[in-house]
Amino acid sequence: MGEKKILVAGGGPAGLNCAYWASKDGHEVTVFEVEGELASKPCGELISDEALDFTPLNNDSSWVLNRVRRCLIYCDGKFIRELEPSSRPDIPLALLRGYSIDKKGFLQDLKSAAESAGARIHFNKKVTHKNIHDEEFDMIVDATGYPRVLGRSVGVNDGSERLATCKMGYYKGELNPDTTILNMLDRGYAWLFPHDELINFGVGGFYDKKALDKLYEKNIRTFELEPPPREFEA
Ligand SMILES: Cc1cc2nc3c(=O)[nH]c(=O)nc-3n(C[C@H](O)[C@H](O)[C@H](O)COP(=O)(O)OP(=O)(O)OC[C@H]3O[C@@H](n4cnc5c(N)ncnc54)[C@H](O)[C@@H]3O)c2cc1C
Repeated sequence: MGEKKILVAGGGPAGLNCAYWASKDGHEVTVFEVEGELASKPCGELISDEALDFTPLNNDSSWVLNRVRRCLIYCDGKFIRELEPSSRPDIPLALLRGYSIDKKGFLQDLKSAAESAGARIHFNKKVTHKNIHDEEFDMIVDATGYPRVLGRSVGVNDGSERLATCKMGYYKGELNPDTTILNMLDRGYAWLFPHDELINFGVGGFYDKKALDKLYEKNIRTFELEPPPREFEA
């Protein structure tokens, strides 16, 4: 493939990593991020060894908070067992072997790497239909994250996928700093993982707001979490 003009939609982990590698391969890369800053969404704060290997970054960084080595599986609040590394390839490996990170710091380093490789990154810029249909770029990469609004808007899905809801926060509580917990629920799951001195806790799944709030409170009680300094919904 010759040198291309590439527009990357979204300045999250996928978009910035794509910008880095495509720039390094000699393409002219522009990133548009709709928000005014990096990491406006508090998610993706647990990264697997494998995912980190896909980036130009390494684990010897100030944004690495905790090393994760164990995952405990619960079902509706009851402990089932510790997950074996090879037993469930469908469970994201970050829960078993990876790092909890400060996402802002991680993205800042990824942005610097992409810019050093030649990418241009613009904030407060939204990729729209107009960008898709004009001929300024040879290629547009949809890195807008879940629920892929951009791709959906041009029919890059069959429209049947249901949208999940989630709620999360940072809490105080008892959790070994190298351990994650996955509590399987009827239509989703709750997670706990270390976030420096705190616990990143959340519930996600196919729930309406009322049911989600109820499960959230129930899991706070189950895992004896103390009131959070910060809480988010998505
Ligand atoms: C609560 C929650 C917790 C999660 N925890 C984890 C976890 O611990 N580990 C993990 O691996 N994954 C986790 N995930 C999944 C997580 O979302 C992804 O791993 C990661 O954030 C995906 O990166 P991304 O770059 O694809 O998307 P995102 O991080 O969502 O980034 C997309 C970017 O595109 C921007 N954007 C959107 N639309 C446009 C547009 N039209 N034009 C320009 N910019 C646009 C957004 O502002 C955003 O910055 C979690 C998800 C949620 C919701």
